[in-house]
Amino acid sequence: MSIRILTIEDDQRIRTAVRFALEDEGWSVLEAETGEHALEYFNSTVPDVVLVDIGLPGMDGFEVCRSLRRSSDVPIIMVTARDDTHDVVAGLEAGADDYVTKPIAPKELSARIRALLRRVRSEDTTAAPRSIGDLDIIPDEGIVRKSDNEIHLTKTEFHLLCELSDHLGKVLSREHLLEQVWGYDYFGDGRLVDVHVRRLRTKIETDPAHPRHVVTVRGMGYKLQA
Ligand code: CA
Repeated sequence: MSIRILTIEDDQRIRTAVRFALEDEGWSVLEAETGEHALEYFNSTVPDVVLVDIGLPGMDGFEVCRSLRRSSDVPIIMVTARDDTHDVVAGLEAGADDYVTKPIAPKELSARIRALLRRVRSEDTTAAPRSIGDLDIIPDEGIVRKSDNEIHLTKTEFHLLCELSDHLGKVLSREHLLEQVWGYDYFGDGRLVDVHVRRLRTKIETDPAHPRHVVTVRGMGYKLQA
């Protein structure tokens, strides 16, 4: 079955341009003009990727994202009107995996969707389970437990944790994490890493404000420790 992408955008011209670009890649495109409509649509269609504009009438893109995240770890790409730190960070904190800015460059959008799809599909079936302090990570099942309680992570958060745990105790730079987790072979946006680390901490740390496992090494990056 072909890959289905749900585009949530109220501007019909942009929606049409995006549809042409994505159909060019051989993907099927589903469209919604509002967040409310998209959420209804989502449950009956189960798309592989969601592309959501921040500026929507009624429920905005942040709300749509948070609402989807309550029940789904579908890959979400946020579309922002400009490369504004506030919007980018708020979008990632609402649960988006990645973002693109308007005007949308079709090649960049396709590349980002392909990278997301690769990540979703690449369960690491060869990596051995590992215990790190009170955390148990089981890569081939995509499961993390903290003190025996299962923790729900999105695929991106899970891959980030696995990458850090592959290099236990070693500092990994943002560039390294972007390359390994997001699959970007160009210099990407360190904010993606920073916000995902924050999200990961809220789920795996006992006190996210004073993280014990995922530690920031100033000027260098992040490391995982027991
Ligand atoms: Ca819009």
